[in-house]
Amino acid sequence: TTPIETLEFQSEARQLLQLMIHSIYSNKDTFLRELVSNASDALDKLRLESYRDKDLGADTSDLHITIETDPAERTLTVRDNGIGMTRDEVVALIGTIAKSGTADFLTKLKEAKDAAASQDLIGQFGVGFYASFMVADKVTLVTRKAGTSEGVRWESTGEGTYTIQPVEDAPQGTAVTLHLKPEDTDDHLYDYTSAAKIREIVKRYSDFITWPIRMQGEGDEAETVNSMKALWARSSSEVSEDEYHEFYKHISHDWQDPLETIRLQAEGTFEYQALLFLPSRAPMDLFLRERKRGVQLYVKRVFIMDDCESLVPEYLRFVKGVVDAQDLSLNVSREILQQDRQIQLIRRRLVKKVLSTVKTMMTADAEKYATFWREFGRAVKEGLLDDFENREAILEIASFASTHDAEKPTSLRDYVSRMKEGQEHIYYMTGESRSAIENSPHMEAFRAKGYEVLVLTDPIDEMWVDAVPAFDGKQFQSIAKGQVDLESEEDKKATEVAREQQKKDFESLLTWMAKALDEDVKEVRLSSRLTTSPACIVGDTHDLTPTLEKMYRAMGQ
Ligand code: ADP
Ligand code: MG
Repeated sequence: TTPIETLEFQSEARQLLQLMIHSIYSNKDTFLRELVSNASDALDKLRLESYRDKDLGADTSDLHITIETDPAERTLTVRDNGIGMTRDEVVALIGTIAKSGTADFLTKLKEAKDAAASQDLIGQFGVGFYASFMVADKVTLVTRKAGTSEGVRWESTGEGTYTIQPVEDAPQGTAVTLHLKPEDTDDHLYDYTSAAKIREIVKRYSDFITWPIRMQGEGDEAETVNSMKALWARSSSEVSEDEYHEFYKHISHDWQDPLETIRLQAEGTFEYQALLFLPSRAPMDLFLRERKRGVQLYVKRVFIMDDCESLVPEYLRFVKGVVDAQDLSLNVSREILQQDRQIQLIRRRLVKKVLSTVKTMMTADAEKYATFWREFGRAVKEGLLDDFENREAILEIASFASTHDAEKPTSLRDYVSRMKEGQEHIYYMTGESRSAIENSPHMEAFRAKGYEVLVLTDPIDEMWVDAVPAFDGKQFQSIAKGQVDLESEEDKKATEVAREQQKKDFESLLTWMAKALDEDVKEVRLSSRLTTSPACIVGDTHDLTPTLEKMYRAMGQ
């Protein structure tokens, strides 16, 4: 007699399960992709672990995935002989959602207006293992961690609790059995006990999985259903867009198609292939501290690591994909990679390729580019501070809100092409919102002159404008700082005389004001920049802007 424990799901997990049980996601077939994806990950992990630890004592002779259907029992089982899980891992990994951005996701979900909006969010979040509960009313998972002797049986109906119990004779790896919901029985579309249906789903979603996925064939022999070809090793003419998209979903855990697929190959002394994707949506954790970078490293088709931070800079953390290098040791560690010159070369090339892809997109598909920039522009702009080498390239692909067109952001190229006769600088103003900037008295003289002003409202804008001097030889100039000179030479002479006279007329007023405001301002002077407002406050050229001041204060500095 073995003790059965009943445990509660973590509350976020409970909420997510409720959604799955009520199955508001329309494409239920995706549950199988998630299970196969997990099984494949488990095999990757075991292979890697056994390279690293020769004494692991795991069986790696025939790593594979099996799928079994039982129409009489109405069950479907996905089995792998991979890394498996200990009891504590089952509790931590299956009983909770560890993903960052979960709380945020659930709040957004509550606010979602309709089913379509909720589906969208679920797709963006990617629910993983819990997708099982879209089609099953009970799920049983039996697992044994490679190198250990005791197995674990986990079972749940997805309604708040799950049970867990030790098992004696579990095989190495994990078997997930779905007890399929009865309501799907008559619906041929959703008959997941049909081997033909399962085969079709595997072909569609998981063909590229590099491990054999076996199913019982006509005779006694099990047949391998998938072609197992690594997509990045096939010539691009052979691979369909759908296949790329499904592969993207496998590695990114995203349920939506990517925005763009990027391929890269290098032959010769240092051979590698890269298959990269730009997602169509920013992930929930793009600006969270524990965010991850999305490129996986393979060595000669063998998975080595997720989130390989040496391959992409922080500001391109949203790029997903795979780099397969031929000449690295399978034992490379993150530390070694950081020092590796060849990895640095790959990284430089990946960065340039991503930036040039976006640049092409700007003209080839403006709408796609607009989506890209809306989702990832804030992250990309961080590169203006971090990546000196590619600063120009980043400025080229950036776009900014501007006074030229309230609806449409502008590239700097386009801004420059619209610059007025005699205009030397690229003018901008930073602030908390578009309306705050547009209603600012600083704007008046520029509006009167017909000069375009960039409207910069992202916190990161405050930082890069100080670090980046110019674009295309034109300096960036804040309209709220220092002396802004808007007049031509002739105008200047003409106004000079008038101004001298004004100065005399107002001298006593200015002296009085300066005294009265002694505590608050450095100087009081007559302004040439206002047209309708009586007065405005101006920062010194090197002063912090109000927004930056607020940011620093919030950080406790
Ligand atoms: P994700 O795959 O995005 O991490 P899942 O919900 O699909 O999220 O799975 C959660 C975790 O459970 C996985 O990260 C993995 O650690 C563990 N897991 C799931 N399935 C398996 C399996 N077949 N073998 C080993 N571990 C698994
Ligand atoms: Mg998964």
